Amino acid sequence: MTEKACRECHRISRGSTCPKCGAVTMSDDFTGLAIIFDQEKSIIANAMKVKEKGRYALRVR
Ligand SMILES: [Zn+2]
Repeated sequence: MTEKACRECHRISRGSTCPKCGAVTMSDDFTGLAIIFDQEKSIIANAMKVKEKGRYALRVR
């Protein structure tokens, strides 16, 4: 199963439903990958408004 990225929060997962926000608008057309380990200190997490650690797509189409 291919990984997909949520169009709402950019979270990457393998299902068709986002485990983070519950959106069903998952896209397999995404570029870039940001792995957030410490969302408190991460500049990327801050810029993307990510509030929990995980893997996120930089751009989702
Ligand atoms: Zn989501």
